[in-house]
Amino acid sequence: MSLIVQKFGGTSVADTDKIRAAARKAVRAQQQGHQVVMVVSAMGKNTDVLVSLASEMSETPPAREMDMLLSTGEQVSVALVAMAIHGMGAKAVSLTGGQIGIRTDNSFTKARIQSISTARIERLLDEGNIVIAAGFQGIDEDLNITTLGRGGSDTTAVALAAVLGAETCEIYTDVDGVYTTDPRVLPEARHVGVISYDEMLELASLGAGVMHSRSIEFAKKFGVPIHVRSSFSDTEGTMIVAEPESASASVCGAALTRDEARITVLGVPDVPGTSLEIFSAISDRKIAVDMIVQNIGNDGRTDISFTVQHSDLESTLQAVSAAATQLGAVGITHDDQVSKVSVVGLGMAVQTGVAHKMFRALADAGVNIQMITTGEIKISVLVSRDQASNALRAVHQVFKLMDQPAERKSWAQIRAERHEKADVNTLVARLQSDALEELTLTGIDVMPNQARVTLRGVPDTPGIAADMFESVSEAGVFIDMIVQGIDGEDGRTSVSMTIPEKDLDTCLEVAKSLMKRHGLRDVQGGEGIAKVTVSGIGLRSHTNVGTIMFRALAGADINVQMINTSELQVNTVIDGKKAQIGRERLSAAFQEALR
Ligand code: ADP
Ligand code: ASP
Ligand code: MG
Repeated sequence: MSLIVQKFGGTSVADTDKIRAAARKAVRAQQQGHQVVMVVSAMGKNTDVLVSLASEMSETPPAREMDMLLSTGEQVSVALVAMAIHGMGAKAVSLTGGQIGIRTDNSFTKARIQSISTARIERLLDEGNIVIAAGFQGIDEDLNITTLGRGGSDTTAVALAAVLGAETCEIYTDVDGVYTTDPRVLPEARHVGVISYDEMLELASLGAGVMHSRSIEFAKKFGVPIHVRSSFSDTEGTMIVAEPESASASVCGAALTRDEARITVLGVPDVPGTSLEIFSAISDRKIAVDMIVQNIGNDGRTDISFTVQHSDLESTLQAVSAAATQLGAVGITHDDQVSKVSVVGLGMAVQTGVAHKMFRALADAGVNIQMITTGEIKISVLVSRDQASNALRAVHQVFKLMDQPAERKSWAQIRAERHEKADVNTLVARLQSDALEELTLTGIDVMPNQARVTLRGVPDTPGIAADMFESVSEAGVFIDMIVQGIDGEDGRTSVSMTIPEKDLDTCLEVAKSLMKRHGLRDVQGGEGIAKVTVSGIGLRSHTNVGTIMFRALAGADINVQMINTSELQVNTVIDGKKAQIGRERLSAAFQEALR
């Protein structure tokens, strides 16, 4: 008999009528011949209410007690859903995370799932019950209640779908699927029929709040098809599967993280081990760092900038100030009025010109770009918060995301064509492992013969990035990585890009012509560098990845010249002569960490 998991978010169980409607959907699926597991969130805004109660009690409530408190929201809803199903004459049993046996680590409020026992659920299903699981919670080794982080019920649902071998995981929510961007922010956003795991993973991690990004890690690892759909209608929603909707589109969606903060550590020694010191202090607090930019040093010193979620700012500043003192840094600056706008698309990995199209659109909209980082399938820019919605609208428009892509596959077509099946043995091994949510690595690769061009002292005005990348592309040079970050304290920035070594002279020429036109301070080039790429699933959400990498490279006396991170890849640019040893050290370090 086929099994489906149905997850209902807070708005979908906000009152007793809605709870009855959710119960009806489950009963109907059971009558159609499925075994049904429901995963339910706390009613409405109940979790927010609990959070504010806690903050009335203490400015820094103990994390363990936070989880004890927050888990109660889901316990209320599962019991009510079970009662509703009983009222409809069907059999149902509600279970907490602990009762199911969702084992997590003990990082309270951000716990990760280690294992799930399926025996009890399977027995209850075989007895004809609808099983109703409390979302977002688990239990650690010492039977403490843990929670998975805000929005974590999606992850409970997909994880259960994975271990139970469900046919699909249905995510019932207050929108009828995934849109090209948040439809509440941009009403012109378009409903997407199909989206790939990789694209959804990046979008979710970059701010598309419709799915908890860790749930997509599970879906990708275990090949679970997800159907995101409306609780309030029966229309078809969005399928999240391995394949993309369109092979021709360069960008499939845009996302906004409104509440970001930028931190710059000024004047740290430009030697191996500096990044390690800073980022290990942050990752010890399980804070996810994004947009890491290290400027090319001057006089043996350099600046390192990065962003974190605004809510993590205080804690990050505490962590960084100790590290900065240790390193003898000149100072720390931060800006808490910034937002991150990103575009994502698998097509970007093979199409050129996506970056300068985005930068031109932002310049035309009068938006100044403060930082840039790129990944294989994403580009993110940091802008001031008061320009964030404008910036999002401009990029959504320039990639024509409101229009259907010319070539587009429906879910039915994809299903018919599906022949790739995940390697069954790997899946079984992953499912049996005691670390379901551990980092998964898929490869470590070296790209030799690269060069870097850096423009320093770029004035703080819109349009320069657009000009620069347009001119370089027009000269026929393929740009791979781009990073732009704060350069010193005068509001200017520095921009670095990697290109094939053979194009260094051409690129330097273009850069020098821009230097005059835009009043840049300096242009530098360097050849003989290599890009070392670590690929995997959930590289950013596992906050220790950077530490593992920086430690391995610093141990081999390798200086990291550039870095970018995404959920799928971390790229570092290092001296080409040290690429092989770097690769070996990284392989060893990750093997050790994953053991
Ligand atoms: P639930 O409580 O059901 O988990 P959430 O509030 O977590 O619901 O997620 C649904 C919300 O996600 C939508 O109301 C929408 O505003 C927001 N959202 C953000 N980005 C997107 C997107 N790309 N597509 C659809 N919805 C999005
Ligand atoms: N109730 C939790 C929250 O609001 C979990 C969830 O809804 O996914 O974050
Ligand atoms: Mg949600």
